[in-house]
This record gives sequence, structure tokens and C-alpha cells, in this order.
Amino acid sequence: MNPQIVQPRARYLIPFDPKRVPHMFADVLILGGGIAGLRAALSIDPKLRTVVVTKDELVLSNSSWAQGGIAGVLDPLDDVANHVSDTMSAGKGLCEREVVEAVVKEAPQRIRELIELGTKFDTEDGEIALTQEGGHSHRRIAHALGDATGKEIMRAMIETVRARENIEIWENTFSIDLLTHDQACRGALVWSNSHGKTFVWAKQTILCTGGAGQLYRETTNPDIATADGHAIAFRAGAELRDMEFMQFHPTVLYIAGSSRHLITEAVRGEGAHLVDVTGYRFMPDYHEMGELAPRDEVSLAITAQMEKTKHSCVYLDLTHLPADLVNERFPHIKKVCEKFGIDITSERIPVRPGAHYMIGGVTVDLQGQTTLDGLWAAGEVTSTGLHGANRLASNSLLEGLVYGLRAGEGASRRALEIPDSFTVPPLDSPAQVTYPEEEELNIEDMRNSLSSLMWRQVGILRSEQTLHAARQQIEFWDRYVSRQEFNTVAGWELQNMFLVARVVIAAALARHESRGVHTRSDYPETIEALAEHILIHSAV
Ligand SMILES: Cc1cc2nc3c(=O)[nH]c(=O)nc-3n(C[C@H](O)[C@H](O)[C@H](O)COP(=O)(O)OP(=O)(O)OC[C@H]3O[C@@H](n4cnc5c(N)ncnc54)[C@H](O)[C@@H]3O)c2cc1C
Repeated sequence: MNPQIVQPRARYLIPFDPKRVPHMFADVLILGGGIAGLRAALSIDPKLRTVVVTKDELVLSNSSWAQGGIAGVLDPLDDVANHVSDTMSAGKGLCEREVVEAVVKEAPQRIRELIELGTKFDTEDGEIALTQEGGHSHRRIAHALGDATGKEIMRAMIETVRARENIEIWENTFSIDLLTHDQACRGALVWSNSHGKTFVWAKQTILCTGGAGQLYRETTNPDIATADGHAIAFRAGAELRDMEFMQFHPTVLYIAGSSRHLITEAVRGEGAHLVDVTGYRFMPDYHEMGELAPRDEVSLAITAQMEKTKHSCVYLDLTHLPADLVNERFPHIKKVCEKFGIDITSERIPVRPGAHYMIGGVTVDLQGQTTLDGLWAAGEVTSTGLHGANRLASNSLLEGLVYGLRAGEGASRRALEIPDSFTVPPLDSPAQVTYPEEEELNIEDMRNSLSSLMWRQVGILRSEQTLHAARQQIEFWDRYVSRQEFNTVAGWELQNMFLVARVVIAAALARHESRGVHTRSDYPETIEALAEHILIHSAV
């Protein structure tokens, strides 16, 4: 397939005068401090000055919110070949075998390393307790604090990173754009309330900015997941890939007025049933694996059953499971549901799908190198080839660790080769763009309008007609959104989301088939000849 072209409205989100902006220097600059960013930081040579930038506090990330666990072959009765085959089978023909084998093989080592860093996984008879999740043929998910695995892993990683002398952490610092010269990445323009704009020049830069769930009205992701990394890499000229593949998690708590808490797959792994409003257990009608079918299949089945029953949600039923097991395994979910008067041991939990994981992203090779020289990437912001057209549950924390390590080692090696004498280069594109004065926008209203449109027209089920309508509406809004010069994080996030929404729609329009998490009502079949990646380039 030919690459799709999407033209960013401008190379940089804001104008700047390099003579008036303070300049800082790092050997390695890491944008993002989730599991991928911190694993990268830990693999940088201690001689190198490393700066990690996070837009909020370090503890707020998708990684900290991860519930179910991390996948790896730890049971002697399991086999790496099974994990490979489950991953490939969920990925529906688009996984890259070399990548899958490399990542899956490394999993036990990466998990043991987390234990060495201080992560306390849940145990059973002295061994790491393993659970099963959708699409896995074996129990191979290690978890912590019952259903708050990410919180525990990140606690241990944050403590370790904070103790490293060569690593500085700049929290509440927003990366606005990458700096490029001679078509290579040279660092980033960042902003913070206390310091304003700063150029951070770096010998090598690693992008680990996470996901894009906030593009959709219904999402499990925290507010920070606004696709910034996808947008800034794209404006700088890096290739994006497979952006039509947004994974919708099938079971997100659906209570009006509550934020959309994820109800982990592990609940179904432990035996919970999905029932409709009449109490009917419908999953066996849709898939032979029942509730443990891959996520895309379960999301589609729930959508179909909601339509059939004309009801706004379905229900997770744990009432037949021993109350002790439920209380011990799912303390977080129990607490959240209790706030809304639901006792999960005796009452059903209302759920429906929500945007969960951006499978597409910045193209990287096996080492984590992007198509832009000097820029590496790891974690949810990337497209590595591991997930194909549908991510297998609990493979993403693993991917963040494996590629964080690889990108960190690669960037570190390269930075060591570059001498310290450094002169500030002229930037690739004219920075002094003038932005016309515009009517002040209600940013929150624009963000809600965009995410509602994406949910309705570019969601679980799409078609040429809904995608075209969405594109037209976004192009119209974008005429005034992207021309504005904002001076707030909320404004820059909005502009990033507009750019990435255009990219997602271009990719979804280009895939004339249904595959994995991308379901087109006008092209319902999976077509063997179309098992290719969709590449997206900016016309710079
Ligand atoms: C509710 C929930 C449950 C999940 N459960 C699991 C699970 O059980 N198992 C599993 O494998 N996966 C799970 N996932 C997915 C997994 O958590 C993520 O894919 C993974 O943690 C992503 O890690 P990351 O390091 O790439 O990004 P993140 O952890 O999201 O970190 C992104 C970082 O980038 C920073 N950032 C973003 N934009 C900017 C910017 N413009 N400037 C500066 N900094 C920026 C953020 O501040 C943050 O530090 C879950 C996700 C969610 C939302």
C-alpha cells in the first residue's frame, strides 16, 4: 500500500525566537516517564547526563494505572512457543514474528529484573501467582497488589530512577515539539509553569509519551493520554504506522457521572460471566472461547448485544464466584464499585467498551530507532510489530520494558560516540511563523466535541460514510483550532489531538477490510492480500 499523506498545519505549534529562549543541554533526553521512559533511563550509561521530562507528576501515567499484570512464560508447563502463538493469533496477520519472538523470549528476564528493582508481585506457595486473561492459552500473567500491578511496578521503578545520580526528572514539564536540524532530532522545546519555554538540546532523544485514549469520549486512559508524542514526532517528519488500530477494552465501568474505570480482563480470567440486561450469558453465542475471546471479539459482541437488547450496557457477573476470592483478587475494583453502591460479590457490574490502547504509533526497528535520525522511541507511542492488528492482554507493559531497554541502550551507545563540544544548530524550518489573532476558543468544549465525534464516527464500527463525515467535520473545526497560537498545555494538547485524529481517519479510510480492532461495516471481511502495514507520512 502506498503511504498515506497527512499534512500538519505547521512544523511547530508555537513561534519562538531562539535568542530569547533559555538553552539547556543533556546527553540523552527522554520524553515521558512511564514504564518505557523509566526503563530507558535505567539503561543509559551512568556517565551520561539524562533528563526525563513528564507533563504531569511522575506517578501519573497509563503505566501506573495498569491493573491486570504483565505477561511472561514463568510456569514450567507453559512454553515460549505458546505465548508467541497466542500473540500472533490475536494480531490477525500483522504481527512481525521476529519481534514477537524477541519480546516474548525476553519476558521472564524482564520480570525477574522488576523483582530485583523491588517490585513485589503477588505470590502463591512462594511462587509468583499467575492468572489468565483473554486470548492467552495458559496462566502467564504476573500481577501485584491484586489488581493494581502498574502502581507497584512504577513505585519500584520510580524509587530506583530517583536514586540515580545521572538522571534528572523534570515533572510538570510539557514537550511541545522536537527540534530538528539536517533532518535529525536534536532535542525538544519544552514548557513549564515555572520556567516557561526552554530548548533542551540532546545528543539523542527517546520518545516515550504513551497513548491516545483521550481522542475518544469513552476511555480507560488518564487525562494525560492526548497523543502528544504521536503528533510531535509526526510534525518533525517521523513515520507513523497502523494508526487505524485503536483497541477498545470490552469492559469499562459504565456509571453516569463516574470516570471510566477499567474492569480488568483478569476478572473474566477468574471466571466472571458477561450477561445482558435480561441476565442472558451471551458470549458463547459469539465465540468458542466465550468470555476469554480476544478483546476485539468481545468488544464487538458486547456492541452487538447492546444493540440487540437496546440497552446502554451489559454486565459483568461475579456473583457465582467465592466472595473471598473476589475480595482478595480485586480490591481496587471492589472499592471503586462500592463508591457507587455496588457490592461486586452479590451484584452485577454495568460495563461497556471504551478506547484503551493505541496499537499504531511511531514506526521503530528492533532496536527502537525511529525513521528520524537521533530519535528513538518505546512503549505505547510506538508501532513495533508486536501487537499486529490487536494487542494481546498484558503484552504492553512487557513491550515497554523490552523496548525501553533497547532504545535506552541504543541511544546511550550513540550519545557516547558524540563529542561534548556542541554548537546550537539553526533549526530546520523557520520558527517565526506568525499566527493570526483569533476569537478565544472554549478548549474544553472543542475537546469534548472532538472526542464525541471520534467515538460516534471513528469508533468500534466504522464505514466510508462515517469516516468521511468525521473528516469533514474535523477539517472544518481545524480551520480555526490549528491556526491559533495557544499558550496553555490544554491548547497544545487540543492541537495535537486534532492532528492525530486526522491521521487516524486517514489510516482507517485506507484500510478497505476489517482486521483485528479495525471493523468496517462496509468491508466486513479480512482480506489476505491486505495484510500490510499502513504507513503515514507528513508531506515535509
Ligand atoms: C486502566 C489501564 C489498565 C491497563 N492495564 C494493563 C495491564 O494490566 N497490562 C498491560 O500490559 N498493559 C495495561 N495497560 C496498558 C499499559 O498500561 C500501557 O500501554 C503502558 O503502561 C504504556 O506505557 P508508556 O511508558 O508507553 O506510557 P505511559 O505510562 O502512559 O507514560 C507516558 C509518559 O509520557 C508523559 N507525556 C505524555 N505526553 C507528554 C508531553 N507532551 N510532554 C511531556 N511528557 C509527556 C506522561 O507524563 C507520562 O510520564 C493498561 C492501560 C490502562 C489505561
